[in-house]
Amino acid sequence: MNTRYVIKRLVDLVREEALRNSYSEITGIYVRLGAQENIREKDLVRTFNEVRDNPLIKDASLVVKKSKALARCRYCGNIFEVFYFNNRCKQCGSTYLEFVADRGISLEKVEGR
Ligand SMILES: [Zn+2]
Repeated sequence: MNTRYVIKRLVDLVREEALRNSYSEITGIYVRLGAQENIREKDLVRTFNEVRDNPLIKDASLVVKKSKALARCRYCGNIFEVFYFNNRCKQCGSTYLEFVADRGISLEKVEGR
């Protein structure tokens, strides 16, 4: 995904939320980034800063949270958070795992006034 496109979509969503809540100014934008998403946090923030020249979002802070990596155990189906040096199912101990695809970016919360 292209960072500019992502930010454009994000600002569109923020604008919709602002309308819905009658905010004239956005103060905080909270975004979650998938664990396997290729876009980096700092690129998102940098691109956002390039488009924030707009009365609605000029003073908004952009908070990006990266999701934890998840894996599914192919043996028992358990889904759990993965620590890279200890990739073992916590429920059955199997090492037969697949990563759960977690891409994309979602808008979690918008704060404004
Ligand atoms: Zn298991």
